[in-house]
Amino acid sequence: MMLSLQPGIIYGPVNSRRLGKSLGINLMPGKYKLCSFNCVYCHYGWTKKHAATFEPFADDLPTRDKVVAAIKEAMQSSTEFSYITFSGNGEPTLYPEFPRLVDDVVRLRDKYRPAVKIGLLSNSSGLTLPGVREVITKIDYPMFKLDAGTEQIFKAINRPAEGIGFEGIIKQLYALDNILVQSLIVDGSPGNIDDDELEVYFNHLIEINPLEVHLYSIDRPVPKTELRLVPPDKLETIAERGRQKTGLNIRAFYPHTG
Ligand code: SF4
Repeated sequence: MMLSLQPGIIYGPVNSRRLGKSLGINLMPGKYKLCSFNCVYCHYGWTKKHAATFEPFADDLPTRDKVVAAIKEAMQSSTEFSYITFSGNGEPTLYPEFPRLVDDVVRLRDKYRPAVKIGLLSNSSGLTLPGVREVITKIDYPMFKLDAGTEQIFKAINRPAEGIGFEGIIKQLYALDNILVQSLIVDGSPGNIDDDELEVYFNHLIEINPLEVHLYSIDRPVPKTELRLVPPDKLETIAERGRQKTGLNIRAFYPHTG
């Protein structure tokens, strides 16, 4: 069974494999997934509304005032969390007022919970929008998805909306500093563990030069049933090969590592 969509703006805290207790911020509608990708492994199932910009869906999005009020309430509550993370039912950076909202969250965090870190889980497709690139530096833990080395595998795994190309995404990632990259490594059809594909992917990582790279595989039901989990020993072998080739801090995460 797929995960249920997040019905509201704030959800969790969820016990994240990487962030510990993380409170989620969902800027998308509560009733459907709205994303610029339609990843074959998405734990929310297939994308219902697939678009490169969210303006046509503006009426279904929570207003900035509502988002700020929900975040303020969470910050003032007794709920314990160490991260507050933009994620939710789709791609957060495509929310029309994303840059201003990041400023709001920084302000609220500094006032109410200065120890809390701000996270972002993004597929990178909003980086060309006005103000988005600039605001990334204000986020403590900006994590960007890269699941492919080539356009062909990018299209097969991430199934982007029309107008989103692999080269554009890669160019944006090359130009960012101090980011983290997360990559879903998967076997089957489509898969990204082919030697040649990994080689090109590692070359992109060298150019991006992220602080860390997190590899993980599927650990929940996925929409495309021809996908296969990459077992922990194989994932670790890929991580080690990547470390040798790139010199980067590449870490493999498995479901049981929590
Ligand atoms: S980018 Fe994230 S939310 Fe969008 S389809 Fe892929 S996994 Fe799902």
